[in-house]
Amino acid sequence: MRTNVECIFCRLVRGEIPSDRVYEDDQIIAFRDIQPAAPVHILIIPREHVESVSDLREDDAALAGALLLVAGSIAEREGLTADGYRVISNTGESAGQTVSHLHLHLLGGRPLGALG
Ligand code: AMP
Ligand code: ZN
Repeated sequence: MRTNVECIFCRLVRGEIPSDRVYEDDQIIAFRDIQPAAPVHILIIPREHVESVSDLREDDAALAGALLLVAGSIAEREGLTADGYRVISNTGESAGQTVSHLHLHLLGGRPLGALG
């Protein structure tokens, strides 16, 4: 199990930091973003410490797929499927990644505009 004692999301996985969890299973948790950028803003993360999309390995393929499936099912549960939503993962400095633990942002509940 990859973990990092100082990582804020690893601490959140361990329950050392409170979060508003909306989903959990044996390999993934999802919780509401503390600074929401849209009416629905949920972060979906692996329990294991993987730094970013760039850090995924071949044997993480099932985990990477499971993260996307969870995003889709939470979107459905949050009522976002009809109007649409956005799933993104900021990776590295240019994208503005501030937490070095892989996370998908699920955003919806308003028109999101173009990326750019
Ligand atoms: P990024 O900038 O893509 O790395 O996204 C990190 C996200 O984590 C930001 O949207 C933050 O608001 C969010 N965040 C940081 N700390 C927490 C926390 N303790 N609980 C929930 N969301 C958090
Ligand atoms: Zn971590």
